[in-house]
Amino acid sequence: APSGRSAALRARMEERLLAARFRYINQQLYTSTSREAAQLFQSDPEAFEIYHRGFAQQVGRWPENPVHRIIRYLRRRPASLVVADFGCGDCKIASSVRNKVHSFDLVPLSPLVTVCDMAKVPLSAESVDVAVFCLALMGTNLQEILEEANRVLKQGGTLMVAEVASRFEDIRAFVNAMAQLGFKSVSK
Ligand code: SAH
Repeated sequence: APSGRSAALRARMEERLLAARFRYINQQLYTSTSREAAQLFQSDPEAFEIYHRGFAQQVGRWPENPVHRIIRYLRRRPASLVVADFGCGDCKIASSVRNKVHSFDLVPLSPLVTVCDMAKVPLSAESVDVAVFCLALMGTNLQEILEEANRVLKQGGTLMVAEVASRFEDIRAFVNAMAQLGFKSVSK
């Protein structure tokens, strides 16, 4: 049996390896199309498992997980609002609010997930009140993904985006591009 010290060292090294593999896969998700991301996870199911363990480890270190803020926001609004959670991960939103929540991801981490590419979700046009991208606005075909969110949102519906600040080259340009896609910035 390994001594306490070598076991602790091994655990630390494994954690660093997991973090590195997470960053690698995360970078792949942000630099490929959503179709390529779907292929990556289909061809390598272990990648998805590593990604999610690494994601949870990473977010666990932050002072606040943005998904909790989105949950607090939804709890203050009527439970009758229909929500679409794009790139839902383990469905924290669906399992924390009373609203009807459509949860979309590439792989089912929870039975609440509808497996699909978020560029093409199985919802009819103008059927949701709130669309959420919580740390999930990834893929180089962002325009197509956001047009899909626009399609399923009702007129006057709300789009919520939580993303790491360093992911933006120019937030003003992003807000302007969003305006061209039909989204008016209400709060930043
Ligand atoms: N929103 C969750 C999980 C964020 S991790 C939370 O905040 O806890 C990003 C998620 O987006 C991952 O689960 C990943 O599988 C998913 N994702 C990435 N590209 C996707 C795509 N093209 N279609 C659907 N889900 C995607």
